[in-house]
Amino acid sequence: MVAAVSLQNVHKVYNNTCVVNDLSLAIQPGEIFGLLGPNGAGKSTTIRMLTTLAQQTQGDIVVAGYDVSRQAAQVRSQIGVVLQQISVDADMTVWENMEFHGRMHHIPAGQRKNDIRRWLDYVELTDRAQDKVKTLSGGMKRRLQIARALLHQPSILFLDEPTVGLDPQTRRRLWEIIKGLNKDQGMTMLLTTHYMEEVEYLCDRIGIMDQGQLIESGTLQELRAKHGEGIVMKQKGDRWEYLFFPTLEAANQYLDGQPDKTGMMTRPANLEDIFVELTGRNLD
Ligand code: ADP
Repeated sequence: MVAAVSLQNVHKVYNNTCVVNDLSLAIQPGEIFGLLGPNGAGKSTTIRMLTTLAQQTQGDIVVAGYDVSRQAAQVRSQIGVVLQQISVDADMTVWENMEFHGRMHHIPAGQRKNDIRRWLDYVELTDRAQDKVKTLSGGMKRRLQIARALLHQPSILFLDEPTVGLDPQTRRRLWEIIKGLNKDQGMTMLLTTHYMEEVEYLCDRIGIMDQGQLIESGTLQELRAKHGEGIVMKQKGDRWEYLFFPTLEAANQYLDGQPDKTGMMTRPANLEDIFVELTGRNLD
């Protein structure tokens, strides 16, 4: 199968600093791939290179079968992009924002009207179509961004921190929309986040980024199997020590065998534990 997104030995250097360092990665059609990492890891820079907004210093990037450096226009026609900074025009109405984007992509008038209706309906913004964007909540603006990114029928959607700053309920609603798009339309997606629950809930595969490098990748199952599915936490003064075990059962057995269990507990391992294990730091 030809990968939907492929990066080979990609570097990005800003002011003599390598912010993306030898990144190689392939995302298959229909996959939701999550890039997880703390602030400054290089996730946004990676998305900017994949979406033709920044040029890699070195390496090859192919998106939807096109080379991002030599075939940027073709890449842009195949992708939808939802960036961190809200990039919808606040003084235009919801409909006008969609209309403007549709014209930019030369979608014929009749089809444009139908598609705007369809996508506003999909993200449940039909009743706000005539309202100015500045009157919308943060979650609604994000849904409008998604609807707009889908208007020209992209095959791959890039989402940079799609739920950052949103309350848990709004976040969950966006997750349902993202998951639905993948299920209903088979849309390939790459999203970045520093919320481990987001990747645990949404992503088929996960790449963990730190300091410009991809330090681990695989399915959640694979990562947990590799690093250990069970954890024993031991309180040491004001901090916790973590011991990994192949299974939660093995962690429980270890705990049972301890003569003094004070300040100790077991639980299933999560992505944050794996990140801490790999880097010695927390995700945020
Ligand atoms: P993340 O999305 O994981 O938080 P970024 O890709 O935004 O990380 O940033 C990675 C590093 O690159 C940071 O140290 C950031 O300051 C730096 N950086 C990002 N964009 C630029 C730029 N346009 N010029 C200089 N440095 C940049």
